[in-house]
Amino acid sequence: MTTVVDVDLMADLKKFGATDVSACFSCGTCTAICPLADDDATFPRRVIRYAQVGLTDELLGAKELWTCYHCGLCSQSCPTKADPGEFMATARRYAIASYEPTGLARVIYTRPKLGTVVAVLVAAFFALFMLTQADLGGIHSPTLALFQFVPSELVHWLGVGTMVAMFAAGAWGVVRMTRALARRDGVTWADVAGSRAALRRSAAAAWSSLGVESLGQRRFREDCHDDQPAEPLWRRRWLVHALTIWGFLGLFGATLIDYGLELAGIKMTGTPIPLWYPSRALGTVAGLSLMYGVTVFLLSRWRRWTPAHATSTGSDWLLLTLLWITGCTGFVIEVALYAGQPPVWGYWFFLLHVAVAMELMLMVPFTKFAHAMYRPVALFFYALARDRVR
Ligand code: SF4
Ligand code: SF4
Repeated sequence: MTTVVDVDLMADLKKFGATDVSACFSCGTCTAICPLADDDATFPRRVIRYAQVGLTDELLGAKELWTCYHCGLCSQSCPTKADPGEFMATARRYAIASYEPTGLARVIYTRPKLGTVVAVLVAAFFALFMLTQADLGGIHSPTLALFQFVPSELVHWLGVGTMVAMFAAGAWGVVRMTRALARRDGVTWADVAGSRAALRRSAAAAWSSLGVESLGQRRFREDCHDDQPAEPLWRRRWLVHALTIWGFLGLFGATLIDYGLELAGIKMTGTPIPLWYPSRALGTVAGLSLMYGVTVFLLSRWRRWTPAHATSTGSDWLLLTLLWITGCTGFVIEVALYAGQPPVWGYWFFLLHVAVAMELMLMVPFTKFAHAMYRPVALFFYALARDRVR
């Protein structure tokens, strides 16, 4: 196999925020202190070495990028101030931009002002598109009739189109990443699904990746020492992260329940429902969970509560702001829905809510949100490799 050396790799990485890791002399202090290093005597410094010598393919095929939770312990102990924790975060940004096919992630990460302009334009496009079909004058309803304002079919098909675009870009990135990881680890299709034993191993690795780590946050919760008892529970990073994920998934579940009820002919979209109705109750609890997580993350980045939040990129702020606007406008609409006399502002908040939610969905493969796709893949390979070592 030919090894390609990219002499511009370090310079390129710096555009994504890396501190100067050329000072790293591979002393191993970061490995000794990292709570996630396990028996890997080269984690995380091997990835730094790839960057130093210009091994782009090796860097992009390193599952270690995604097994780091950026607790920052290594950066605090590095004798040369190479900031390995921030380097790992930078390398993940670089990987997201390298996996996706359009170049939009690179713009968002390396030209944050332009990225923000693009984000505002995309949201404006969604809002204006819906506005061309909206009809506020023709509504004569005692409650907020959101889907008389914007037809539910329009919102539905706009959502389907956005999801298709998001899945296409996301699937492209996941396939590229999977191929890079498999090549570097020497994992073949036969290793994953070539026999019953292989399928059993893969199922166990998938459970470890998705169930135990992604949803259960096991290592983040148990091993990452930035969550020492001194850190108040309400702002421990694993908990805030978990509440954000569960809130997001809960909202997705509430949407699916609503859709299922419509398909079953039990409830039509837009029909007024009480607060205790399953999809509304789940949506409210999940929305509160999401808002809590996103608000604490915003405060943490603003006040720099943890080493992971000492440095924030434009993309970090963009993603959290979009999430916060989506959650907040969702609750404003809920208040308007149960107000006695339907307020006109409820309709405008609905337009803003749907436009930003669509944009958020479309942006998944191009922002930090993409780690929700890539980290489980890396954790799957990590679990497979651990199983092979045993
Ligand atoms: S990043 Fe710092 S602590 Fe880690 S090997 Fe390099 S010099 Fe040592
Ligand atoms: S930031 Fe924490 S988890 Fe990541 S490599 Fe450093 S010590 Fe390990």
